[in-house]
Parts: sequence; C-alpha cells; structure tokens
Amino acid sequence: MAVTDELLKANEAYAKGFTQGNLPMPPARKLAVVACMDARLVPSQILGTKNGDIHVIRNAGGIVTEDALRSLLISHYLLGTQEFIIINHTDCGMLTFKDEDLLARLQKETGTAAVSPNHFYAFDNLEKNVRRQIQKVKSHPWSPKSVPVRGFIYDVKTGRLSEVSA
Ligand SMILES: [Zn+2]
Repeated sequence: MAVTDELLKANEAYAKGFTQGNLPMPPARKLAVVACMDARLVPSQILGTKNGDIHVIRNAGGIVTEDALRSLLISHYLLGTQEFIIINHTDCGMLTFKDEDLLARLQKETGTAAVSPNHFYAFDNLEKNVRRQIQKVKSHPWSPKSVPVRGFIYDVKTGRLSEVSA
C-alpha cells in the first residue's frame, strides 16, 4: 500500500474524533513561523502550540523567499499576527550541497535547462543563514515595523532552540 493510502486511513480515524471545527481563522497566538521542512522539526511540537495557534510557513531551509514573504504579509495584514520567527536547524540538508552543483546535476540528468528555480538557497553557515533571513524580512518595504523578527536554530539532537542574535 502506498504511504498516501495509509495516511488516508489515519485521517479517517482522525476525523472521527475531530472536535475542533469551530476555531477562528486568525491564529490565536498571533505569531508566524518560517521553518525548514525537515521531518524532525515539527513546529507545533517544539513550540508547544495547538491547532489554531500559529501560522507555519515551511520550505527547504526555512528560507525567506518571495513566497514566504507573501505569506508573512498576508499573515500580518489580513490575519493579525504580531510576531515573526525563523527556525533553521542543525544537520540541515541545505548544508550538504551547493546550488551550482544541484543545478548542473539536474540539467545533466534531465537534459535541459529550466527557467526556475534559479536558486536552491543552499548555505554553509547556519547562524549566517538565519541572520540573512531576518534581514530579508526586516528590509522588505512592506514589512510591518511593529513586528519583531527573531531567529532560532533548533538542535535535532536535544530538541532545544537557541536564539541567533540579529
Ligand atoms: Zn533543514
């Protein structure tokens, strides 16, 4: 059985016991997270939040891309979040390659160039990467000045978050 089919079975059981159908749309804790997609990093678990509490925007690396910015702007201006945090983590897959190598590999394996993505945003230093993401949020002309932007590294071995000074 494909994993998707297994998960659909799990969802059936979940829906049977579901009792949270009346949560409001705006996140109750008024916070948005940009986090890496790593399977070991589950924002609601590491932050102790519940359904309906926070917005979670995820991609490979926890990168503030154009699309992550789009989501943050909607999160704040339309849904009322008042704090942003960025979470990267130890042992991230993005530390294991270079953009140019992956671009070259994909071009070779598929036999064609592609319009996008232009960047995979691989990085070699976690702290620097987190700082760069904070700067990308803060420097955006539509970024709300009243909203603090803090960055953290999650340690996949200890479960602990450490703040990266901006
Ligand atoms: Zn990662």
